[in-house]
Amino acid sequence: MVDKRENMSENNNSNRYYYRSFCQKESVFMKYSKQREAIRTAVSDRIDHPTADVIYEEVKKIYPNISLGTVYRNLVLLESIGEIAKIKVGDGVEHFDPNIKEHYHFVCKECGKVRDIEVKITIGDEIMSYPEGKILGHKAFFYGICNDCINKKP
Ligand SMILES: [Zn+2]
Ligand SMILES: [Zn+2]
Repeated sequence: MVDKRENMSENNNSNRYYYRSFCQKESVFMKYSKQREAIRTAVSDRIDHPTADVIYEEVKKIYPNISLGTVYRNLVLLESIGEIAKIKVGDGVEHFDPNIKEHYHFVCKECGKVRDIEVKITIGDEIMSYPEGKILGHKAFFYGICNDCINKKP
């Protein structure tokens, strides 16, 4: 089943049949809203920038029948309305982030952990006068070995 929110008001008041059909769609929509809320909460509750798979495992505890596709579609939707951010940190998978403000990330090369960097980093003004186009912003991540992995080494 797909989330057809935009079609919801299509045929809602011409007769009883359509009214019933509308109510069914409405209840399906409500169910999806609750699922979406659970997905949003699952992202907000974490600081580790989970992947869609991690969120799926989390939300499955509440909605055992939910599919990975539904979770992913909702994550993309939440990102498109600016409730969460989607980030790439060079490991080939998408991570989701409840922190939508511009910030940098640290990625551990050993365990793959992704954390926010709270330090303010200034990029030189030279780049702003880039002659081949207008710079609108930038994205970057820093990689290394996290303290947990350093302490684990013999
Ligand atoms: Zn690590
Ligand atoms: Zn972040």
